[in-house]
Amino acid sequence: MKIDQDVSWMRDAYPATHWEKAGNGSSMVVCNLSPRHCKIAEGHLGRCGVRGNIGGELYTFNYGKSVEATMEYIETEAVNHFRPGAKILSLGNIGCMMSCDFCQNWRTSQVRHLDQADVRRYTPEQIVATCEMLGIEVISWTYNDPVVWHEFVVETSRLAQSAGIITLYKSAFYIESGAVDELIDCIDIFSISLKSMDEKFYRKFTGGTHLQPVLDMIRKVHASGRHLELSQLLITGRNDTEEEIAKTNTWVLEHVGDRVPLHYVAFHPAYLYTSVRRTPEAIVLKAREMAMEAGIRYVYCGNMFRDGVSDTHCPGCGTRTVRRYGLKAEAVALDEAGCCTQCGTPNDVRQALKGRAAEVALPTSPDTHCSKDFLWNAEANSVHIEVTHDAQTVCALQLERIGTDAVPVQSFATGGVLRRIIASRQTDDETGVRVTLPKGAVLHFYPVLDRAHFPTSESLEREIAGYREERMDAMARA
Ligand code: SF4
Repeated sequence: MKIDQDVSWMRDAYPATHWEKAGNGSSMVVCNLSPRHCKIAEGHLGRCGVRGNIGGELYTFNYGKSVEATMEYIETEAVNHFRPGAKILSLGNIGCMMSCDFCQNWRTSQVRHLDQADVRRYTPEQIVATCEMLGIEVISWTYNDPVVWHEFVVETSRLAQSAGIITLYKSAFYIESGAVDELIDCIDIFSISLKSMDEKFYRKFTGGTHLQPVLDMIRKVHASGRHLELSQLLITGRNDTEEEIAKTNTWVLEHVGDRVPLHYVAFHPAYLYTSVRRTPEAIVLKAREMAMEAGIRYVYCGNMFRDGVSDTHCPGCGTRTVRRYGLKAEAVALDEAGCCTQCGTPNDVRQALKGRAAEVALPTSPDTHCSKDFLWNAEANSVHIEVTHDAQTVCALQLERIGTDAVPVQSFATGGVLRRIIASRQTDDETGVRVTLPKGAVLHFYPVLDRAHFPTSESLEREIAGYREERMDAMARA
């Protein structure tokens, strides 16, 4: 793919790190950020579509270019053992070193499908200032994949840590060792998606990548002592057999031990793999049961909205120590050190009570009201609520649960770079949410189909539906 100055996000570039000249006096460069090691000719881009060769030097085209910053919860990122319930500022960017045909964030990860309308521009200082203003104590690098955003992630994370903000990295982790060394210095939490234990799976379904580099880098993070959690999406017909699940459990136990939390996550059909159904709950529950029987202490079901599938139980006495429903979490029987309040056994939960800061009251209720409802449905148990308001730097809104009195009305604020917040179902009987906001504010709902899914503009959905049909036709003809 060529660098195209007609594409607005490609008009400005930033010096890249982790590259070398190809040698022999040629102007080609080799990018060493991911194990692809793309050899890139002048005027061209690497496989991720966001790093390119200008005049024999490597540049990144996505520095500071982000999708809409969104306030979510740490559980959104398959992190259950660090500050349960903490608010996070989720930031995704554009491009990816992989090209999974089942990607749920393909509209931003695969740049040929990108709509410029979905791209925002932020500085490290704006991001940190927003967290400070709104009391958000964790920044999460997430969605498409942060590997290809490396320079911006490292610079912003260093600034964030100097301001006392926690940093979280959610990734498929197809990345080279030198870059991981930099991340270990500035990232507090790693949530890594291990797609399969089968090399053939990586080669065939993720755009020709490989398994071993991912496993090596997981072990490197684990050896560093940084907080680590692992997740595996159970993809219908691809990696959801008991044999595959057993392989994952065995590798986890042998290489990172029984205390690293493992999340088995339900898949929803996406991108080019839409001819199948969502992962049946029974398969996710079976995976959890197998992992626990194998000896992994903390195993969770992801993308399931029901009681009892993602609680933490004390490995000493069995007491439920963290209660979860969907993305809602609350430490109910842990002390500050993450030990069970009943028997004192460590539950391997770091900063166990600090997530409760998420419940600190934010700005008071809006003065003049308008309100809008979003109802939960078979596809969406979460929603991104995007609010714009020109006249205020901070906009307060209230969230009321429809169909239940079990959850009190909550207050939220947007401001700085933050205009989106997530809401998700918290009880079985809840049927939706009612958002009340000040007069003059404009609100838009974006249904969230699964955890860490970033919904983009709807117009693109229609375009790609056409593209997908074309591709299916082409495949049928081949
Ligand atoms: S990050 Fe990976 S895919 Fe992108 S240019 Fe570098 S080596 Fe290629």
